[in-house]
Amino acid sequence: MSELSAESIRRGLKTDLIGQSIVYYSSLGSTNDLIKGLAAQGAPEGTLVIADEQTAGKGRLGRKWLAPPGTSLLLSLLFRPDLAPKQAQRLTMICSLAIADAIEGLTGLSVDLKWPNDILIRGKKAGGILTESETTGGYLDYVVVGMGLNVNLAISTLPELRGMATSLSQELGREVSRLELLWKILEGIEIRYKSLRRGELPHEEWVARLINLGRQVQVTTPHGVLMGWAEGVDADGALILRTPDGQRKRILAGDVTLRRSWR
Ligand code: ATP
Repeated sequence: MSELSAESIRRGLKTDLIGQSIVYYSSLGSTNDLIKGLAAQGAPEGTLVIADEQTAGKGRLGRKWLAPPGTSLLLSLLFRPDLAPKQAQRLTMICSLAIADAIEGLTGLSVDLKWPNDILIRGKKAGGILTESETTGGYLDYVVVGMGLNVNLAISTLPELRGMATSLSQELGREVSRLELLWKILEGIEIRYKSLRRGELPHEEWVARLINLGRQVQVTTPHGVLMGWAEGVDADGALILRTPDGQRKRILAGDVTLRRSWR
């Protein structure tokens, strides 16, 4: 039986905004799709949708997120921030930083982030974030941050991920309590969200954790492949790419795939 339920989550959660409203499913298509429906019906900020299994988990660009039952943390949070639409990536930043802190605090593993949305352990992907937002008349109506984290996942059960993915149990050689990890993540997100609302930007801390800056990279966009030097990331989370002819290009997270380049 899964240890996750709305009651068990509520019992140990020390927050006053994030996760005050909890919607739990043992199996669900996609937590992001469900929470977007709730957001449109007026669900409050901080609403948490969490599932033990996702049958249609989404990555970026229509890619799939794989998560067999009982192995992962699969959740989405609803934010109604007072930000411009182009600043929505700040929510990705605070959630990924809170996930990194929670994993490191609970397990002692060291966590890196990969622009724009991956959580890595020893160079392999242990989690991903999918941020989606809705705007009305040039203002952010809401932002949904979906998070998928491989907790007690034996990678050998998913041959398509072998060599590129990992999980906490895989790295530690023992299982980790999903509930304890979830509490830490949600508490960390709440602290960071409150700082953001006070005007403190997560940008510098986020950039410090990104492993793909200062490197030669290959950016695949819908219009072709660009090679260049990943120079930095601006306050809105766009990648600054210096191309071989000296141009500086600003790359938005939405429609690109970033790979390290060895050429
Ligand atoms: P990439 O990380 O490969 O540059 P991306 O950031 O666009 O791509 P996402 O859209 O966040 O990736 O996630 C989807 C991709 O992640 C899938 O195409 C698959 O390769 C990989 N993936 C799917 N499920 C998992 C999982 N449980 N753990 C690690 N990686 C996964």
